[in-house]
Amino acid sequence: MPLSSSILSELRRIVGPGDVLTEKEDLIAYSFDGTAALRQMPGCVVLAATTAQVSSVLRLAQETGTAVVPRGSGTGLSGGSLPSPDCIVFCLAKMDKLLEVDRANLTLLAEAGVTTAEVAEAAGAAGLFYPPDPGSMKSSTLGGNVAENSGGLRGLKYGVTRNYVLGLEVVLPDGEVLWTGNKCVKDVAGYSLRDLFIGSEGTLGVITKVLLKLIPKPAAKRTLIATFARMDQAAQTVSDIIAARIIPCTLEFLDRTTIRCVEDFARVGLPLDCEALLLMETDGHPAAVEEEAARMAELARANGAAQVLVARDEAEADRLASARRGAFSALARVAPTTILEDATVPRSQLANMVRFIAGAAAKYRLRIGTFGHFGDGNLHPTFLTNELDADEMRRVEQAFKEIFDEAVRLGGTITGEHGVGVSKKAFLPQFAGGAQMRVMRELRRALDPKGILNPGKMFD
Ligand SMILES: Cc1cc2nc3c(=O)[nH]c(=O)nc-3n(C[C@H](O)[C@H](O)[C@H](O)COP(=O)(O)OP(=O)(O)OC[C@H]3O[C@@H](n4cnc5c(N)ncnc54)[C@H](O)[C@@H]3O)c2cc1C
Repeated sequence: MPLSSSILSELRRIVGPGDVLTEKEDLIAYSFDGTAALRQMPGCVVLAATTAQVSSVLRLAQETGTAVVPRGSGTGLSGGSLPSPDCIVFCLAKMDKLLEVDRANLTLLAEAGVTTAEVAEAAGAAGLFYPPDPGSMKSSTLGGNVAENSGGLRGLKYGVTRNYVLGLEVVLPDGEVLWTGNKCVKDVAGYSLRDLFIGSEGTLGVITKVLLKLIPKPAAKRTLIATFARMDQAAQTVSDIIAARIIPCTLEFLDRTTIRCVEDFARVGLPLDCEALLLMETDGHPAAVEEEAARMAELARANGAAQVLVARDEAEADRLASARRGAFSALARVAPTTILEDATVPRSQLANMVRFIAGAAAKYRLRIGTFGHFGDGNLHPTFLTNELDADEMRRVEQAFKEIFDEAVRLGGTITGEHGVGVSKKAFLPQFAGGAQMRVMRELRRALDPKGILNPGKMFD
């Protein structure tokens, strides 16, 4: 049912008339996120500027049984901020204040709408470091990062968003404001509600403030790339690096299709005659960094690398890293529809998984470029397709299902960092099992008995 005029006028009273969007041309921009082939017009868009406004809007939604879909920048890749019909899209991007950098406790407090890049810059300006670096960090918001428990290129050594969240301000579906966590390094008082909200994909509450842990900035960094004629040589190099007790901050992989697209797009100077490329970065104490970089180069050569290139300075390091950072954009240029997935397996199964994806591409006559966080076992098979071609989309779905089934069979997961949202919810029950599904549903019902918050996401 369309939003009533009384709900709209109450929303205008709460946030101001300019921050309630109802015109079709405004709503179109909020009718999709970063996920391909998913679109739905909302009833309206509300832009909140304060926690009090968030609380009042949720109270109104609760009273009127109106669906609310929280949204940051809409870069999500599982349809998490896709509107439900006639819902309020609740955008937090205007809550963008960096509130405090506490140099004594090494923490940063920010509103949920601050971008990840702004957090990283503020930490850097204080001589500190915020490691989570999703590829979307220039536009993704901190609230979106927490709601998805986002990863990034540094996950192998530094972990993901969850590892840096000390506290959260969350507005519950009934409008009550809750604080969980604090600046203490240790705190075991009660259940960790903070951990419950991290990765909850906008289904349990609206995150309004985030207290983050920062760490000292590494003194030095070295970047290198190695290319291989065969993918299993790259996979073996990764295993050998880890077995040599080296934990690089970045250990990324590009396959042949991705290398060609990147080279076409960015002209980084990558060799086109290889099947796999590894981007490796080590950071820390300068002496350790030199030693680890030399050892990684040696291991790549021992596994038959055709070329090993060590960046001489920061500019060259940035150029080499841009090959990986630009992978998605490069692939997105070559087909009308780009579907980016994140099947994830234990590291020891990487070569098997990459081979399986290539087999699925051949079996279903599809073009798939694969890149990803090799060090984490987190792969991004990227389908280069056309959503208007019904036959091809059917084959894409079949290939997807086989790829996820194989990832789970190999001891992996259906999503390493993009979340369940709409895209993976059909796969969740089989992956999570009956007991986990029951507990998740009961938790959701306890916090949101009317099911107003992000309905139809993660599970129905
Ligand atoms: C080019 C590109 C590269 C990417 N690279 C990575 C990567 O390396 N690693 C990675 O993990 N992801 C990556 N992503 C996915 C995406 O950027 C992340 O999931 C990101 O955290 C989403 O942030 P957002 O602000 O855009 O959130 P949105 O897309 O707006 O929302 C995502 C989810 O969070 C919920 N949400 C948003 N804000 C709040 C809030 N304040 N309170 C409660 N719920 C909220 C929404 O309801 C939705 O379910 C990439 C995406 C793109 C397009």
